[in-house]
Amino acid sequence: MPCPSTVNIPECFAQLNYAAISGDVEYARFFYDGLLIESGYASLCVKCGACEEKCPPQGIRIRDVLTEVSTLFGR
Ligand code: SF4
Repeated sequence: MPCPSTVNIPECFAQLNYAAISGDVEYARFFYDGLLIESGYASLCVKCGACEEKCPPQGIRIRDVLTEVSTLFGR
């Protein structure tokens, strides 16, 4: 953060994690859709890699995870 394409990375990760832990995808989608109304959702990611360059110690493939998020929640 901040992402030049306005992706709210922490919230995208939070709702993906909630869905994975609880198994309740619809409840996670409710918050995902409610919190990320006009911007912030995962499909806005243009895969520039800027966030991964800023966060190398954790080695998280943020772009791949965001693809997973947009596939799960539909945007
Ligand atoms: S890879 Fe995606 S989430 Fe990361 S900074 Fe670029 S547009 Fe934003």
